Amino acid sequence: MTPRRISILGSTGSIGCSTLDVIDHLGGRESFEIPAMTGMGNIALLAAQARRFGAGFAATADPARGQELKDALAGTGIETGSGPEAIIEAASRSADIVMAGIVGIAGLAPTLAAARTGTDIALANKECLVSAGALFVNAVKSGGGKLLPVDSEHNAIFQVLEHNQRHAVERIILTASGGPFRAMSRNEMKGVTPRTAAAHPNWSMGLKISIDSASMFNKALEMIEAQYLFDVSPGTIEVIVHPQSVIHSMVGYTDGSVLAQLGAPDMRTAIGYAIGHPRRISLPVERLDFARLAKLEFHAPDTERFPALALARRAMEEGHMQGCVLNSAKEIALEAFIAERIGFLDMADIVEAVMDDMSGLQEPATIEDVFAADTEARRRAMEKIGRA
Ligand code: NAD
Ligand code: MG
Repeated sequence: MTPRRISILGSTGSIGCSTLDVIDHLGGRESFEIPAMTGMGNIALLAAQARRFGAGFAATADPARGQELKDALAGTGIETGSGPEAIIEAASRSADIVMAGIVGIAGLAPTLAAARTGTDIALANKECLVSAGALFVNAVKSGGGKLLPVDSEHNAIFQVLEHNQRHAVERIILTASGGPFRAMSRNEMKGVTPRTAAAHPNWSMGLKISIDSASMFNKALEMIEAQYLFDVSPGTIEVIVHPQSVIHSMVGYTDGSVLAQLGAPDMRTAIGYAIGHPRRISLPVERLDFARLAKLEFHAPDTERFPALALARRAMEEGHMQGCVLNSAKEIALEAFIAERIGFLDMADIVEAVMDDMSGLQEPATIEDVFAADTEARRRAMEKIGRA
């Protein structure tokens, strides 16, 4: 394989570490250059990764940790930087592909900066699409790079759509594991702790997305992500609970055919598909053993117990800005739940109240409109939590 230049935004996170694992498997620094990598609080890990992979530039988003990172990489020749501007600089360094693996809307500005350079974007950071929708898709298009979905469901759909007739698509069917509280009553959910919410039955992921999976806010974000990524109407997008997480998602066609992508629940398959695109690469992931799988189950999702799904449907129908509002209010509510300031079910109530307050916003003309809505949704969510 010819050396490819891959920058990794959020290299110290779950997606970032899995990406480096794939790169390692494909020959590490013999086969790849890493123009830039970024992290935030875990300076020791960021420095170790930068040394190991010979990064050109390493940046922490935390302005207070810049000196620590500089000291940790002294004598290596690796440039360092700190603060949000340094993350944008890392994203803008010349690369063939940028892995967008930051969590939350914090990744939007850097990922947009990368898109504007014309590099291909491997997108794990779904909040870019949820918050900025068509503006983000258009930025990638006008930059001239490809948008390669890494979220496993969207990667599955992308794999199907790439080789099958787009004009005859009738349904996009996102699978959801249902998370750790799939079978719990609403009453029982009231008292769950962040620790139990973070314990995902099938996938090993970062803290925030794991809790979002338990509340199904993750699936809510993914519905909106699919709307913009595949440019389909909200009515096309369905969710089905599939506890085994073997079918990663499906596409239904006008002739009644349903095509799916299956695999073990391991993000390295989707990451590898994006990095290798358009060629499949060989990966050391577990192979499915159908005889041992025994059964695959499917259940209709319950929007009473998981109101996030209904909020996503509403956001998709009300328009672009409500996706941003939903995500920003959710980010604040999630932080408050992690800090044990509010209960698990309060998260959806807060998001709904902020969406009620902010409904009727005009479609954003520029990315600044998105950031303004984000700031306002956060302020309102914090105000409601203060009262909660
Ligand atoms: P994580 O929490 O494990 O890692 C997040 C990364 O972002 C870390 O490197 C962290 O240092 C960095 N970061 C955090 N806050 C930041 C900020 N304010 N500015 C700059 N950098 C910051 O998260 P993750 O699970 O790897 O998820 C990353 C993204 O990928 C999320 O959008 C998530 O929804 C998506 N995703 C993750 C998985 C998974 O398996 N983990 C699957 C599908 C999609
Ligand atoms: Mg997913």
